[in-house]
Amino acid sequence: MALPAGPRSLVRRLMAASLAGSMAACSTPPPAPVTPARKDDFLKSNIDVSINPGDDFFEYANCAWLKAHPIPDSEPAWGIGNVVQDELYKNLRAINEDAVTRGTEVFSTDRASLGTEVADQQKIGDFWSEAMDEAKVDRNGLTPLQAELDRIDAITTVQGIIDAAFALRPLGVGAFFDVDIAQDEKKSDEMAVHLTQGGLGLPDRDYYFNAEAGVAKTRAEYVAHIARMLTLIRRADGADKAATAVMTFETTLAAASRKLEDLRDPEKNYNKMAPAALTSGHTPSIAWQARLASFDLKPAALIVGQPEFFTALDKALRTTPVPVLQDYLRYHLVSTYASFLSKAIDDENFSFYRGVLLGQKEQRPRWKRALDAEEAAMGMVLGRIFVKAYFPEAAKKRYSDLVEAIRSTYAERIARLDWMSDATKARAQAKLAAMTKKVGYPDTWKDYSALVIGRDSYCRNMMNAARWKFDDARAKFGKPVDRSEWDMSPQTYNAYYNPSNNEIVLPAAIFTIPGVTDAEVDDAVVYGYAGASTIGHEMTHGFDDEGRQFDVHGNLTDWWTKADAASFQKRANVMVGQFDAYEPLPALHINGKASLGENIADYGGVLLGLEAFKKTEQYKKGESVGGFTPVQRYFLGYALGWQFHQREARLRQSLLSDVHSPAKWRVLGPLANVPEFYEAFGVKPGQPMYRTPETHVRIW
Ligand SMILES: [Zn+2]
Repeated sequence: MALPAGPRSLVRRLMAASLAGSMAACSTPPPAPVTPARKDDFLKSNIDVSINPGDDFFEYANCAWLKAHPIPDSEPAWGIGNVVQDELYKNLRAINEDAVTRGTEVFSTDRASLGTEVADQQKIGDFWSEAMDEAKVDRNGLTPLQAELDRIDAITTVQGIIDAAFALRPLGVGAFFDVDIAQDEKKSDEMAVHLTQGGLGLPDRDYYFNAEAGVAKTRAEYVAHIARMLTLIRRADGADKAATAVMTFETTLAAASRKLEDLRDPEKNYNKMAPAALTSGHTPSIAWQARLASFDLKPAALIVGQPEFFTALDKALRTTPVPVLQDYLRYHLVSTYASFLSKAIDDENFSFYRGVLLGQKEQRPRWKRALDAEEAAMGMVLGRIFVKAYFPEAAKKRYSDLVEAIRSTYAERIARLDWMSDATKARAQAKLAAMTKKVGYPDTWKDYSALVIGRDSYCRNMMNAARWKFDDARAKFGKPVDRSEWDMSPQTYNAYYNPSNNEIVLPAAIFTIPGVTDAEVDDAVVYGYAGASTIGHEMTHGFDDEGRQFDVHGNLTDWWTKADAASFQKRANVMVGQFDAYEPLPALHINGKASLGENIADYGGVLLGLEAFKKTEQYKKGESVGGFTPVQRYFLGYALGWQFHQREARLRQSLLSDVHSPAKWRVLGPLANVPEFYEAFGVKPGQPMYRTPETHVRIW
């Protein structure tokens, strides 16, 4: 349920939360005289030549594809990432079925003595068998959670509530707040305990307050859903009243939570204090030192993201009746594991989290959901097998080289900037040169030997995986930072920049274009699709409004001159204004401040990819392919990465809770600031995408 987001994770394409498309896409404005593509060009089937690119380049580039690929009933959205994912699903299913077949031959012997490869096969085979046995899952009902539910039933005091919340933490139940072991933002060589706001069942604090009609309706549906869920876990009576009380409690937490845009200021969300000081100053009910010691964590200091949230949490715990807090814990526990419990509970969870919140009409096929759960539980175990079969060395080399092409172009652009001083430039260059690249898959694979996956139950396997993850994080505390780790598996269609390591991480799957082999894709498209929207995008994150506050060593420290920082801010504010004005749904605008870092990264990526592309043979030759010039193909390649449409509920969720702009505006927004785009497609004053040159964003 919880996405691995947070202030430290600057993720590009979160499949579950960030991709977005156009609600009003594929309308039919007057035809434009653009040279049609040749039949043999793989871009042709995407393009709608009846749309003028200067009116809406997203629709022009993608509409024919979107019309031909409606959103399936079992999905909240559909796009290029889903097509790539579908291919991955097939491959991963084969890996799983193979593991089951081989398992019956090998695993009857002593499991403890198995080698890594065989042990991996055992985990995969057993996980798959349990996940796919729907009848057994249904028969088990709530049994896997019974001990935890009994513990909650027995509570009589607020301290008992806090005991239970800490006991549920290793199971991944995010009651009341979030805790994480991660690098200290100001000492990237050390791991620190981070405490942040949390504890909400809706995707973001704004869901509790926004007056827009769709959001208001969602709130009412949420209360009804909590009531039904409490009934399903056999709460005797009064479920409606109980659900309303849980909602009131969550609304108190939401009121004390910072807004999405306010979570993006790393200084303000870094408050270091001793555990005893957090207790005495903010949360008299929670003795942090003793509580954390029960997890074997004895930090001298904690990094508290939002101290005022913890003050409000403590007050809410003291003033809310214990039975309400019990219902809150019951609901969050069952909600966390609902997908692995009986059909009735699974269906109820679906009806709210996928139906109401995302607009999905029916459940996805069980085997795909099983693969998602397996990915969450042990993605790297699958990845190790996956890359052997599906990511050739030649592809790894092509994209490693592309990273270097983008990096050297960025260095040239920084050197040319007329608004940055030489002193800041020198430090920016040092940071860029030192940026680590991780391409395809990890050099060393994580050790999963302590993870127990067996034939007890699907839910038990997921609980074991949560405990393993918690123990893995906990064990990092007090040890040297392992900078070789990956936070995404190679089969993930996504990428990220991690400021604490000053690194870009590019999983193998992100480079895939469906229907063509890597060798068939021309450089123009590769530089737009992978060079701009992935590699350039992630690299620019190191210098966006948030990333620029971290230095070459990954430490949060101000390395900019005052004047340079002011110039950057002034230029960035132009982009805030540009995106604030976009209104994807009536009364719901894009949040220009919350999405600023992503928008800067998209814009920077487009500039870097284009300039790097200009050094290639294809650009220099200037020959048209499929009726498009090299530069036109570059921009089409960029738009290809955002070929995606989604249901209204899903778009609403992304506008309220995601720092990424919806996909359509990730095309329209950055390109409207790029003169070469105007030139390539003849964009003229009066067209919707046209912005006068003096209003263009100019950062990189
Ligand atoms: Zn990003």
